[in-house]
Amino acid sequence: MPYELLCSLQFALYGACWALAAWLIPEERPALLHWAANGALQALAGFMAMQALAQGQLPPTICLAAALLGATVSVRGIDQFLHGRARDDRWGLALALPALAALGALDLGLAPGAERMRWQGLAYTLGMAGLLLFYAWRCWPELRRSQGRAAAIIVLAPQWVTGLAALASVWPRLTLDAEHMALMREGSRLPGAVASLITGGVFNLSYLVLLMGRLLGRLREHARTDHLTGVLNRRAIEAALQASWQRQRRKDTGLAVVLVDVDHFKQINDRFGHAAGDQVLAQVATSLQQQIRPYDHLGRWGGEEFLLVLHDQPGDSALRTCERLREAIAQSTLALPGGKVTASLGLAVAQRGEVSAQGLVQRADAAMYRAKAEGRDRTCLAEPAALAQAA
Ligand code: GH3
Ligand code: MG
Ligand code: MG
Repeated sequence: MPYELLCSLQFALYGACWALAAWLIPEERPALLHWAANGALQALAGFMAMQALAQGQLPPTICLAAALLGATVSVRGIDQFLHGRARDDRWGLALALPALAALGALDLGLAPGAERMRWQGLAYTLGMAGLLLFYAWRCWPELRRSQGRAAAIIVLAPQWVTGLAALASVWPRLTLDAEHMALMREGSRLPGAVASLITGGVFNLSYLVLLMGRLLGRLREHARTDHLTGVLNRRAIEAALQASWQRQRRKDTGLAVVLVDVDHFKQINDRFGHAAGDQVLAQVATSLQQQIRPYDHLGRWGGEEFLLVLHDQPGDSALRTCERLREAIAQSTLALPGGKVTASLGLAVAQRGEVSAQGLVQRADAAMYRAKAEGRDRTCLAEPAALAQAA
């Protein structure tokens, strides 16, 4: 069986898998369609080139054009996948179009007989090397940032290897006569096919892993986010609280927990409808999020209640933070006819002897109910007596 047939079958299979993935995963469809097209074009190029390569000849122009086009769409797909859009089209086209145009022009008789093959081979090789190396260089920073150095090297290795191998073949193409070129082509068929199987496999499998990583990340993000407000959901804020609690036990850096409950929220729902109520919740979450530091946590505790986990907050500082939070809610831009949106806050600061994170939340809850009883739109600090009970 000709080696190229194996490679073509492999590319056709990859192309079919990417097409299936593009159908099943609409969010990533643009990039996946690029990789499907690459598989189809490389398979096509391989099938059509088989006969010429078996005779030691340069494949017909159409094969070279298909392979070059395949490489173009595949690296454009990476650009699309990593950056959300194909941001390097200008340079990609500047590299691909002249090479394709040169292939076409030479085919129309711009250079005679044997020389045509030499110059076509050169146009193809330089176009391919330029595209692969340019996109590898452009995609490196984002891949390294998102996947780490080692993974980025593995993912881009097929592009570097193929690009550099193409560059290395420029000199023999320039210097060897037609007979020696044919011998070199024949000699490089098996190593070329093996290299194509390996680089094709690494390319396609590493992008499959990247895709799975992105989908898993998205799934994890959905599993920990409250859909309505965009803050952490109950499970995630509980986990964050536990982690902060463990840190507090080791280092005693001043952990504070705040329960925020929107005042008379039922009335807002009743008067303005649930959609307006939802909007108020989202707005309150945004106001709270804007007031806390990146390493603090905010989550929806339930209904119209939010829990904040604040770090490095001794008692006085935590109380000032709560007042800032309360004012931010009262001044939020969402003004409802008939009054502003207010909230009652209960604050508990972890103290020596505190036995559990749950106890801390219970103290904050009791303080929040006291704020309600005292007239709402205020902050109450959990009493030390509550600490004694918890302990
Ligand atoms: P208080 O000042 O004492 O806290 O009174 P309240 O009306 O805020 O408290 P109550 O517990 O009586 O009512 C809370 C309401 O919140 C009842 C429930 O329908 C509404 N609610 C809970 N979750 C959502 C939600 O996701 N969207 C909307 N729009 N309403 C919600
Ligand atoms: Mg409530
Ligand atoms: Mg309420």
